[in-house]
Amino acid sequence: MILRIAILSVPLRRAFDYLPPAGGSVGGYRPGIRVKVPFGKQQRIGILLETTAKSDIPEERLKPVTEIIDSAPLLPESLHSLLLRSASYYHHAIGEVYETALPVPLRQGRYAKQPEQVIYRITERGIQTDLDSLSRAPRQRQLLERLQQERELSGSSTFMRELIKKGLVVRESRAGYNQPPKVESDAPHQLNGEQQQAVDVVHKQMDGAGNDPIRPVLLEGVTGSGKTEVYLQIIQRVIDDGRQALVLVPEISLTPQTVQRFRQRFDLPIALLHSGRNSSERLGDWLAARAGEAKIVIGTRSAVFVPLQSPGIIIVDEEHDGSFKQHEGFRYSARDLAILRGKQEGIPVLLGSATPSFESLHNAESGKYRKLLLSSRAGGAKPPEISLIDVRSRKMEHLLSAPLIEKMREHLEQDGQILIFLNRRGYAPTLFCRGCGWSSACPRCEIHYTFHQKKNRLVCHHCGGERPRPPHCPECGSHELTDIGAGTERIEEALQKIFPEHSVARIDRDTTRRRGSMDEKLQQIHAGDHQILLGTQMLAKGHHFPKVTLVAILDADSGLFGSDFRATEQMGQLITQVAGRAGRESMRGEVAIQTHNPDHPLLLTLLQRGYPDFAKQALAERKLAALPPYSHLTLIRAESSKPQAAIHFLQQVREMAVGHAISQVEILGPVPSPMEKRAGRYRAQLLLQSSYRKPLHQLLAPLIPAIESTKEGRKVRWSVDVDPIDMF
Ligand code: ADP
Ligand code: ZN
Ligand code: ZN
Repeated sequence: MILRIAILSVPLRRAFDYLPPAGGSVGGYRPGIRVKVPFGKQQRIGILLETTAKSDIPEERLKPVTEIIDSAPLLPESLHSLLLRSASYYHHAIGEVYETALPVPLRQGRYAKQPEQVIYRITERGIQTDLDSLSRAPRQRQLLERLQQERELSGSSTFMRELIKKGLVVRESRAGYNQPPKVESDAPHQLNGEQQQAVDVVHKQMDGAGNDPIRPVLLEGVTGSGKTEVYLQIIQRVIDDGRQALVLVPEISLTPQTVQRFRQRFDLPIALLHSGRNSSERLGDWLAARAGEAKIVIGTRSAVFVPLQSPGIIIVDEEHDGSFKQHEGFRYSARDLAILRGKQEGIPVLLGSATPSFESLHNAESGKYRKLLLSSRAGGAKPPEISLIDVRSRKMEHLLSAPLIEKMREHLEQDGQILIFLNRRGYAPTLFCRGCGWSSACPRCEIHYTFHQKKNRLVCHHCGGERPRPPHCPECGSHELTDIGAGTERIEEALQKIFPEHSVARIDRDTTRRRGSMDEKLQQIHAGDHQILLGTQMLAKGHHFPKVTLVAILDADSGLFGSDFRATEQMGQLITQVAGRAGRESMRGEVAIQTHNPDHPLLLTLLQRGYPDFAKQALAERKLAALPPYSHLTLIRAESSKPQAAIHFLQQVREMAVGHAISQVEILGPVPSPMEKRAGRYRAQLLLQSSYRKPLHQLLAPLIPAIESTKEGRKVRWSVDVDPIDMF
């Protein structure tokens, strides 16, 4: 007997043959068990794919596996086959696909049993302690405040150790999967008609009743229309039926608020799978989901692969969000795989968004998905009033126009919070010499450095490279170096000058790097500690800030003329989502948008008639240009430190592709990538396009292994991106 094995983190698109271990296997050789195998000079973890009688390699050269790790397959059969299908759809190495699906400790060969969890629990004395007694230790105070609300936390810190010394907290370790204690509960809302219809449609699919077969439901609900309430009531039924619900969310919106809403509704174990948790916590939750102990699983992208004992539904919230697509290695779309998984498991899939992706709208149009609308805000909140500020001939104070500053003042005087959106972090995007025209660029990417004032350094946002700000121009020696343009750091400085009496909370990657700092900031915002919220898209999505009455978009233009064909779609989504943060409760919201293009037809449609009409118009343009979703793309990228190597390699790939002579597939390029140089490497791309998926995959199936086996394929770095989202 020969064991055919996929080896984790080996990027090769093939399996490897081994002999069974001398001692045999207690549980037999069922596909999906983990094994340890010698690979080169190392021991690696692999997954048994199948057993066969014959190998292409002579038997005397085969090695036996070192150890059988699992007595039963790690994943249920349906999930195992989903992974195989994913590997073939994305033309990616099965070893890396499997790796993506497993929690880190399991990738490393740990046994699949509940790890011991360390938690920090507040003591009775801690509960009774007056927070003001810690006023001289603000971080301890903050931590204790959280503990008083949540009762226990899992991360250690010096501040936690201080609280332990004071007897306010105890450290406990527990075996097995445990849940934080129950929080204050929240009763279901009485649904409005549209919400009820959405719940009914999905329930009917679950029952297999009616003549609507199971097909994905796209729930298009304006911001604040109560989509989450719909999810909660659907999930209630899933749980009543003894099944589990999987909820996928973008990284950004996995705020404590979202989780809190689920906890308040359900006094049940909820598994959380996202990057904010350590690998042992994730393993514990993953195993609890697999065992059926966790009734609800909330997670980001890779949670689409979580094993469930009795799956009942998959919900993808904010389905348009770019974070569902992985941009490196195994470039899968969790949304698309959720659809596939639902089909395989025979369970409903619900995609929700205020701004559905054009792909999903198209699938609804063609009848593949069923579309349902939530057309008004729940609970009586009114849609915000939107106005454009034409900034073409205005004097601006760091991207802030006088009419905008005036509006901000009005709202602040009325005690509203204001939210200011700019999708650019740092202080200034360019450092420029007035003497000779020199500007600072990253030598590895040939793109401007962004100046970060707090660090006093120039930072490349593409490769992460940094260097100190030069004291004078390196070309001409002039001291007249000027910061051109503005990012969030500079706007924060300007706002503090204009509104010295108000506090500004800045939320971007730079201010939220430390673990837990995003949560802290959000809590401060909800407590009303800040009147002005300033941030990048981290602040724009999913949040519910009841006191925000004015939303200002400082620069709406960047999406209008992007080189990427998806730029407009993304702009429309972002503007709609940001605007949707305004006036979500009793106070009427207002949105002010600064632009240099007040007559741009798509922008006008978006603002005057809303996202659905905007999408229709933009989709018509896509159709004319035969771009997705009206055609299908695969991008083959290559990069090399040698200037011409990537292009040459792709020219060869092109010839190989032409050799396969598949009709109905257009081969475009190779061309240099839109961002040609990045991190010191020269990049190029070859685009394969077809009106149908099938011929595209018929071409890729032999082409990709053929590329892999060429000598050149080992000299340049290359990758395949099926259904690419960004084109650089
Ligand atoms: P979305 O997820 O669509 O942005 P939410 O679910 O956050 O919307 O709902 C917005 C607000 O409306 C929340 O405060 C929620 O509690 C409330 N809400 C939702 N459904 C109802 C309803 N049927 N009646 C009253 N209030 C509701
Ligand atoms: Zn100069
Ligand atoms: Zn760089």
